[in-house]
Amino acid sequence: MRPSADIYDLASLTELSEEAIGKVLQDRYNGDRIYTLVGDILVFLNPFKPVNVYTEKEFSCLSRPDWSGPVAVGNEVGSRAHIYTVGTAAFNLVGKDSTILISGESGSGKTESTKLLLQQFVKMASSSQLNRTRVAECLLAANPIMEAFGNARTVMNHNSSRFAKFVSLGLQGNALVSSEIRTYMLEKSRLLSATEDEGNFHIFYYMCLSSNSFFKDVRPLGPLSLISNAETLGRRYTDLEAKATEVLDAFDKLGFTAQQKEGVFQILSGLLLLADVEFRSEEQNHTVCTSLDPKSETTFKLACKRLGLKGKDSRRRLLKTLTTSKLKVNDEDIYSLFHEDKTRLVLNGCIRAIYTKLFDWIIQRVNDSLASTGRPDPGTRVRQIGVLDIFGFESLAINSFEQLCINLANEQLQLFFTHHVIQLEQAEYQSEGLSWVEIPFEDNQVTLNLFLERPLGVLSLLNEESSLASGTDESLYNKLMKHLVDKPKLQISAKNPAVFTVNHYAGAVTYTIPGMVDKNRDKAPENTIEVLASSKLKLLTEIISSHHGGKAKAGNGKQQASAGLQLAVQFRSSLDFLLAKLRESQPFFVRCIKPNRDNAANSFDQEYVRRQIHYCGIAEAVRVRQAGFPVRCTYGELHLLCPVLSFLYGSGRLESDAARVRAVCRQAKLPAEEVAMGKTKVFMRVNASRLLAKQERRY
Ligand code: ATP
Ligand code: MG
Repeated sequence: MRPSADIYDLASLTELSEEAIGKVLQDRYNGDRIYTLVGDILVFLNPFKPVNVYTEKEFSCLSRPDWSGPVAVGNEVGSRAHIYTVGTAAFNLVGKDSTILISGESGSGKTESTKLLLQQFVKMASSSQLNRTRVAECLLAANPIMEAFGNARTVMNHNSSRFAKFVSLGLQGNALVSSEIRTYMLEKSRLLSATEDEGNFHIFYYMCLSSNSFFKDVRPLGPLSLISNAETLGRRYTDLEAKATEVLDAFDKLGFTAQQKEGVFQILSGLLLLADVEFRSEEQNHTVCTSLDPKSETTFKLACKRLGLKGKDSRRRLLKTLTTSKLKVNDEDIYSLFHEDKTRLVLNGCIRAIYTKLFDWIIQRVNDSLASTGRPDPGTRVRQIGVLDIFGFESLAINSFEQLCINLANEQLQLFFTHHVIQLEQAEYQSEGLSWVEIPFEDNQVTLNLFLERPLGVLSLLNEESSLASGTDESLYNKLMKHLVDKPKLQISAKNPAVFTVNHYAGAVTYTIPGMVDKNRDKAPENTIEVLASSKLKLLTEIISSHHGGKAKAGNGKQQASAGLQLAVQFRSSLDFLLAKLRESQPFFVRCIKPNRDNAANSFDQEYVRRQIHYCGIAEAVRVRQAGFPVRCTYGELHLLCPVLSFLYGSGRLESDAARVRAVCRQAKLPAEEVAMGKTKVFMRVNASRLLAKQERRY
């Protein structure tokens, strides 16, 4: 019997329990075989140590731009379970766009896999173009910037992506001619919630802790509340200087001007300082009045200076918006005074809004660079390859609006995966006239309906409450109770109005209602932003005007304007965009698995892995794949799979493609039960396709 570590395709397992799958994965992991296939789904076990599988030799062996065989990553054509094999299959797919979907929990290796794929594509494209293109350079330079501004140290991962991204590449032939990056759901709440273990976005540490002279004039001195953990957590950055330099270089490579580059760090400096400003409230004539704490005057002045608000008058105007609200009634301005708590809320909202706008603006500029360097030939179709790096399912101690969105996205992708693997498999056999046994599977459509139904799904009800001036978390709870109490997959009780629980495919998650309506409203403090828009710092006015005031660019392939749109509405349209992309392309799935909770090398926690195998659908995929015929192609395409055998056995006076294929199978002595002839296609079990490839290689 074969040692289980040699089983590189789980579709060939005889025992199909999650335990058995876990055992094979463990054996392979122990031998540093970090990739395993389930038919054409790639499973990656994060080794948390360097494994020598990305060498030049691996690359050249597995990335063959000339290969354009039928999709079957698991067969011998692709030869080995490897991320490069998936990349090659996607790169070489003819006539159709491809999308690689990378999923897994935090720290499982999604972003590293994405980077490996992008590097591979750039290399494959450049080998055909002699020189690396500007698009490729910009694409590679975009990564350090995205990670610096969108990643952070968390308890799960020291470089955790706090946003999702979809990177698409345009190919004409093998030439890389365009690229675009879309980002989603930046976790802006992180800006103001740094703790001992949970860091703020990397860029703040690069800027404040590195000795790079570029930051000399903008680096605020002293302890800063946004990175109050700088002492402890900052020390854990071992590559701080190199990272800071890499980001600054990347800005140059992407064509950001010196003024823009300086502007970015002026803004960050302004935000760091602004967060440190203290206020105090006093009672005067029975009304509470909030003003700047005298201790903070210098900080406030410096923050304003950095943000381009020069002069007393601008400072006064900014302060006013932070301590009072202005309402126009009958053409008259009516002011109401804030308590210092409210002032803090407004200030924090402003910091979050400006950072998000800055992030969006940077991505937009990156896309502009990519667009300006791309050179598609107008006469030829551009083939797209998309790579989706998206947060895995989350179940934290406290789950709020962010987890609701993340988990809903995962539900949706899970359904897509299930449909793809199971339903399409069955449908294809049926339409090809093969007899097929129904495989029972769990469909999570019911859970999706619970969220997405209109007008009475969780998202619609949340949006409705958030759009009403009178909407509160309490009224949201009442609506959920009224309309959804009897729905399957949901538990909500009259006893506890603060939570509801959803039975997701990956497990039950209890969501906290307080805070949801406001988070969804995502209201930036308009008056404060208006004052900032009058800044003398050109970049600040630019980032505000490009995403403020409803200048929507949706449909333009660019970031959407966020002004006035509830987050859940934006999120839903992003999800619809992704699904549309997925549906019209050939999907490839990469499932990343974390072998243990501690990010340690050489440690395999069986139960932890088993849970991931369950919820990422691997077990089900194995069942379907093995029961079926994972390798298939049309009769006319068999010559792509085995050109020599087709020529030797299939030529001559044979009247049809099907007859040719029959002749090839007969001559190659493929076992009859391992090959099935459909109406238009030939189907093969893994073993048959291996036999074929083995004979092909002999010639
Ligand atoms: P998150 O959802 O938090 O963004 P992620 O799934 O994107 O997590 P990565 O940041 O890609 O996770 O990987 C986490 C860590 O795992 C990396 O910093 C690296 O230490 C290790 N790692 C990932 N891929 C590999 C690999 N192919 N070889 C060795 N180590 C790896
Ligand atoms: Mg990541």
